[in-house]
Amino acid sequence: MKTILVTGGAGFIGSHLCEALIKIKKNYKVICVDNLGTGKINNLKEIIKHKNFKFIKHDIIKPLRLKGKIDYIFHLASYASPPYYQKHSIHTLMTNSLGTYNILEIARKNKARFLITSTSEVYGDPKEHPQKETYWGNVNPTGVRSCYDEAKRFAESLVMEYKRKFNLDVRIIRIFNTYGPRLQKDDGRVISNFIYQAINDLPITIYGDGSQTRSFCFVSDMVKGLIKAMFIKKAGGQIINLGNPKEFTIKKAALLIKKLTRAKSKIIYKKLPEDDPVKRKPDISKAKKLLNWEPQINLQEGLLETINWFKNEK
Ligand code: UDP
Repeated sequence: MKTILVTGGAGFIGSHLCEALIKIKKNYKVICVDNLGTGKINNLKEIIKHKNFKFIKHDIIKPLRLKGKIDYIFHLASYASPPYYQKHSIHTLMTNSLGTYNILEIARKNKARFLITSTSEVYGDPKEHPQKETYWGNVNPTGVRSCYDEAKRFAESLVMEYKRKFNLDVRIIRIFNTYGPRLQKDDGRVISNFIYQAINDLPITIYGDGSQTRSFCFVSDMVKGLIKAMFIKKAGGQIINLGNPKEFTIKKAALLIKKLTRAKSKIIYKKLPEDDPVKRKPDISKAKKLLNWEPQINLQEGLLETINWFKNEK
């Protein structure tokens, strides 16, 4: 029986990933490691008692000792929403540097296949649009977002050195904005904020004038892409964008959520956060070609499912 380690497996994307792995990979054991910084045990309620699933509460900043052979590692652990990673800035830097080192050492000792979830934030406030994997980015190295952007850039560099020096079978996946059930209401990201505000008849808070753009990928599409990137051999050594290339202004996303929830909320405008990227849209031609992957769920469909989940959680 093969074993898959998922760091950050109790988080938003991690828990959907663990659930899908337990469902699809019947003869695999899944070990989920999470410090529960933003992850929740409740996210794992469908699988926590499954015979092939094991949860370990651990902060990967400290070395992790595991019994038995590890065959595959999905390394997701990190704060990922701007308000959270800025609040826990030093922890975010350490998770992606020391934490990534600790997990890479497990991969090296086990000769495990390794996937890291990096981020579109490595492109910073991009001057190339849409963003291709070959773009080097436009990141403020000392700004308020650098604790995440630069930490992920460091992590990518470390992963590539493990490939070069130890011939580790690695892949770097740059995730663009992803949403869906299990985004926490206080997560601070735009879709969860807007839905929470709309279903509670609170003002919908647009930062800036709402003309900045993002491209939103539904979580089930993201998880399918991550699994393909891990198990398709030719993804080895590659850097691959995963995200939905359909681009929306933040204002348009606010109006759509207001319409779908039939909210009476007013739309209010707040100060644009520092270093907020003006636009973001993935070029996914590499993922299409290499993984035969592209998102299936459009924003309206995905939002309806997310809105239902938020209403049931209320
Ligand atoms: N945003 C907004 N209102 C909110 C939360 C976020 O207008 O309540 C904006 C934010 O300024 C950014 C975009 O929505 O331009 C996406 O923000 P998010 O924090 O979700 O992630 P980012 O893509 O910036 O990492």
